[in-house]
Amino acid sequence: MPAQQVAGVSESQDRRVAVVGAGLAGCEAAWQAARRGLEVTLYEMKPVRFSPAHQSEGFAELVCSNSLRSNSQVNAVGLLKEEMRRLGSLVMEAADECSIPAGRALAVDREAFSQRITDSIASHPRIEIRHEVIERIPTDGRVILATGPLTACELARDLQQLLGDEHLYFYDAQAPILYADSIDSEIAFRASRYDDGDGDYLNIPLAEDEYFAFVGALLAAETVPLHAFEAKLYFEGCLPIEEMARRGEKTLAFGPLKPVGLIDPRTGKRPYAVLQLRQEDKRGTLYNLVGCQTKLRIGEQQRIFRSLPGLSEAVFARYGSVHRNTYVNAPKQLLPNLEVRRRPGLYLAGQMAGVEGYVESAALGFLAALNVVFESRGQAPIFPDPATAHGALIHYLSDADPRDFQPMNVNFGLFPPLEGESRRIRRREKLEKLAARALSALAPYQRATAELLE
Ligand SMILES: Cc1cc2nc3c(=O)[nH]c(=O)nc-3n(C[C@H](O)[C@H](O)[C@H](O)COP(=O)(O)OP(=O)(O)OC[C@H]3O[C@@H](n4cnc5c(N)ncnc54)[C@H](O)[C@@H]3O)c2cc1C
Repeated sequence: MPAQQVAGVSESQDRRVAVVGAGLAGCEAAWQAARRGLEVTLYEMKPVRFSPAHQSEGFAELVCSNSLRSNSQVNAVGLLKEEMRRLGSLVMEAADECSIPAGRALAVDREAFSQRITDSIASHPRIEIRHEVIERIPTDGRVILATGPLTACELARDLQQLLGDEHLYFYDAQAPILYADSIDSEIAFRASRYDDGDGDYLNIPLAEDEYFAFVGALLAAETVPLHAFEAKLYFEGCLPIEEMARRGEKTLAFGPLKPVGLIDPRTGKRPYAVLQLRQEDKRGTLYNLVGCQTKLRIGEQQRIFRSLPGLSEAVFARYGSVHRNTYVNAPKQLLPNLEVRRRPGLYLAGQMAGVEGYVESAALGFLAALNVVFESRGQAPIFPDPATAHGALIHYLSDADPRDFQPMNVNFGLFPPLEGESRRIRRREKLEKLAARALSALAPYQRATAELLE
C-alpha cells in the first residue's frame, strides 16, 4: 500500500487537496474531504465550457435519467445506496431529500438535487470553488481527478500521456453480463473452439430457425437513441449487435455467432450458430455475452436474450450499452486506494476510475476522499470489507482481468459467495443474506471514517 511520499507536498499542503470536476464523484469527494479537515479547491469547467451532455450550471448534474435506480436492499445498487447513507454521503442526503415517486426506484427532481448539492458545497467554509477548464493534471500536492466519462479533451490527453495510450479508453461497448447460476447448464455446453483451452466458454447452440428468429427480433427491437456526439463512435469491431444484424441476415452467423470448431455434445453436431458466453470474474459467477454489445433498450435486451435456448431464466448483472466514456484500465493503473501507480498523490474517482453509473461514481468519490484523508494524516488506508458493496467495487477495480477491463455497475456477482452456500438456496433468500452480511461488515469502516469527522 502507498506509504510513498507525495511529490511536492509540503507541510502546509498536508491539509490541502485539489478536486477536479464537480460531478457526482467530485462533489462527494470534496464534501467528505472538507468535513474531515482538508482545505479543498474544487475545479469545475462549467459554465466556461460544457461537455456535449452537460447543460446546466449546477454541480452534480444528472446528464440523462433522473433515476438513481433501485432502492431495494436485495438489489446491489440499492444496497450500495444504503451503505452510502450510513457513511454520511452528501449525494444520498440530497437524493433522499429531493426524491420523487418512482415505485421501488429512487428518482429525484434533478434540478432540486443539483441545487441542494451546489448549495452545500458552496457554503462549506473549507471548500473554494474555481470555474476553470483544467488542461493539465496539477502536479503540486494531492489531486482527486473526477472529470467523468466526458472529460475535456486536453486533460484526457494529459492523462493519456501519463498512463500510456493503451491504458486510457474513450468509448465503451459493453455486452450484457448474466449471472452464471441463471443460465441453464443442461443446454449451454462448455467448450472452446477446436477444443483449444479448458472449455473456457459456455456455448448456446442455435438451430437455423432459432438463429433467424433472433436476428428478426434484433432488427425489430427498440434501441436507445444516440446522442449526436456518440454517432461517430461506431467503428468496425465494436458495432452493436443489432447494427451487425442490419448489415445482412447471416452477418452474425459469420461473425460473433459463428459455430466453427464447436460441437454440441447433445447432438454430436455443429450447430447452425453459437452464442458464446465468456467468464467475467475469477469466481465464475458472471458470464459475458460475447459480441453482444448493444444499444437495445433494457426491456428489449431482457425479452430478446431470454428468448434464446438456455437463457429463459437469465438474470442480468449488467445490461449492454455503447457510449462515449473516458476510463482507465484500473487493475493495471490504480492501487486499491484509487491512487495512480505512476503518480503518487493523484487519485481517480467516479466513472473514469472504472465504474459505471451515478451512484457508483459518487461512492468512489467517497472512497477516494477518505484515502486522501488517511494519507494526509500519515495513516495507512482502511478499506471497506470486500463483502460490502463499496468493498466489492474496489475489489473489482483492483482484481479484474486487465486484458479485458471494462467499467462495471455494482452487482451481487462481485461479492464473495456466502459461506457454506447451498446451490439450492432461493435467489431472493441469497440476496437478503448477502445484503445483511454487507451491512454488518460495513460497521468497522463506518466507525473508522466517522471518527475522522471534524
Ligand atoms: C451521455 C451519458 C448518459 C449517462 N446516463 C446515465 C444514466 O442515465 N444513469 C446512470 O447511472 N449513469 C449514466 N451515465 C454514466 C455516469 O454514471 C454519469 O456520467 C455520472 O455522472 C458519472 O459521474 P462522474 O462524477 O464520474 O462524472 P460527471 O458527473 O460527468 O462529472 C464530471 C464533471 O467534471 C467536469 N469536467 C470535465 N472535464 C473537466 C476539466 N478538464 N476541468 C474542469 N472540469 C471538468 C464536468 O463539467 C462535470 O461537471 C451516463 C453517461 C453519459 C456520458
